[in-house]
Amino acid sequence: MLHIWGAREAFICDEHFSIVHNGGIAFEENVDKILAVGEYDTLCSQFPNAKMQFFPQGVLLPALINAHIHFEFGAHFAQFCYGDFGTWLDSLMDSRDEVLHIQNTYFESILTQGINEQINAGVGSVGAVSSYGYDMSALALSPLRVVYFNEAIGSNPSAIDFLYANMLERLNNAKNLSSPTFTPAIALHSPYSLHPIMAQKLIDIAAKDKLPLSTHFLESAHEREWLTQNSGYFKTFFQRFFHIENPQSFYSPQSFLDMLSPLRDTPLSLTHCLHIKEEEAKSIESLQASIITCPRSNRLLNNAFFSRSHLHNKQIPLALGTDGKSSNNNVNLLDELRVSLYAYPQEDILALAKSLLLSATLYGAKALGLNNGTLSEGKNVDFAIFEFSQPLFYPNQSRPNQSPLQFILHAKTPSHLYINAKAVL
Ligand SMILES: [Zn+2]
Repeated sequence: MLHIWGAREAFICDEHFSIVHNGGIAFEENVDKILAVGEYDTLCSQFPNAKMQFFPQGVLLPALINAHIHFEFGAHFAQFCYGDFGTWLDSLMDSRDEVLHIQNTYFESILTQGINEQINAGVGSVGAVSSYGYDMSALALSPLRVVYFNEAIGSNPSAIDFLYANMLERLNNAKNLSSPTFTPAIALHSPYSLHPIMAQKLIDIAAKDKLPLSTHFLESAHEREWLTQNSGYFKTFFQRFFHIENPQSFYSPQSFLDMLSPLRDTPLSLTHCLHIKEEEAKSIESLQASIITCPRSNRLLNNAFFSRSHLHNKQIPLALGTDGKSSNNNVNLLDELRVSLYAYPQEDILALAKSLLLSATLYGAKALGLNNGTLSEGKNVDFAIFEFSQPLFYPNQSRPNQSPLQFILHAKTPSHLYINAKAVL
C-alpha cells in the first residue's frame, strides 16, 4: 500500500530551506525509503491508488533530531549547582552516590519518560551518550532511531585496562543490537578526562569499523585554561578528587583535534565548543566534523551560547541537542529551539529560525551519519506532522513567509510521527 501525506507547508529541510506550499511525500507502507516529494496534488495524480492524507493547517517536516542527549542521570530534581562549570561538576561529584541510587531505583520509568519526551516533541532520532550502558536495551527496543554513543572516560593509567575492557564490552553489546534503528558508536568523554592511550585505541576502532564518534570539546573556560596552561579549576579538581600531586593535561586543544584526523570519513561530532578559537574552528572544518550545540545546558553551566560567528565562511554543520537532565530542566528539543531563537538577538530572526530548524534536522543527520533529516527521495521515512489551530502563513506578495519562525514559537507536539516507515504517533 502506498501512502501520501501532505500539509499546507512542507519544510523540506534542504540547505536552502525550501518550503513547498501544499507539499507532500509518498512512500510504500513499511518500506523505509521516501519514494517522492513534491506538490501534494501532483503526487496524488502520480499515485492515484495511494492512501492520501492532507492537513490544511499543518506543517510536514522531517522528524527532528536531538543530536546530543544523556538519558542516564535523569533522576535528580534541582540538585545540581548552576552558574559555573566547576561549581556544577563539584555538585555532581558530591551527590554522585545519591544520584546513582535514585537513578537505579527509578531507572525504567525515568528512561521511558525521556524516550516519550523525545517522541512527544517530534524527535525521531537521537545521539544518545551513555556512560554505563544501562539504557542500551531499552533504547534499542524503543521506536526512536538511535545512534548509541558508548562513552569512554578515565585518566588514571592504573585503571585504563579495566575501563577499556568495560568499554569494549559495552561496544560489543551495542554491536549485537545493531539494526536499522540502532547504530553502535563511540564517545570520548573529553580531552580533560580521557587518557590518550585509550582515546587512540578507540579512534582506531571507529576509523576501522566506520563508527560515528563524538566528544565533548572546550565546553568551559576552565577546560581551555587546563589544556593551554595546565592550571585553574581542573588542576585542583585532579588534586582534590584523584589526589594527583602535580597533574598535567594530556593534550593541547590542537593535539586533541589532530588525534581525530583518521576520522575524516566517518561521522565525527564535537559537542559544545563554547571556547574554541578561530584556529580550532578551522581544524574542525578540515576534519569534516560537525559541532553540536546545547544552548540551555551552555547557559546554565557556562553562562554562554555558542558563537555562531565561528561558522561564517566555513562548512561546519551545526547540530542541536538538549544534553541531559543534569544540565537542563527538560530534554524537549522544541523548547531548545525556542531558547535558541532568543539567544542570538543580533541575527535576522527569520534566517535564524530556518538555520535552527536545519540544526534540528539536516545537520543533526550529518552529525550522526544518518540518512534522514531532509525530505527527499531515497531518505528514510522519518517525518512529523504538526497541526495548528490556524495556518502559520497566509500567502501575501508583500510579506515574507515566516512559517519557520511561527513553527518554532508555536509547535508543541506532533499529531503524527513516523520513524522507520512506522507510525509512532
Ligand atoms: Zn553531554
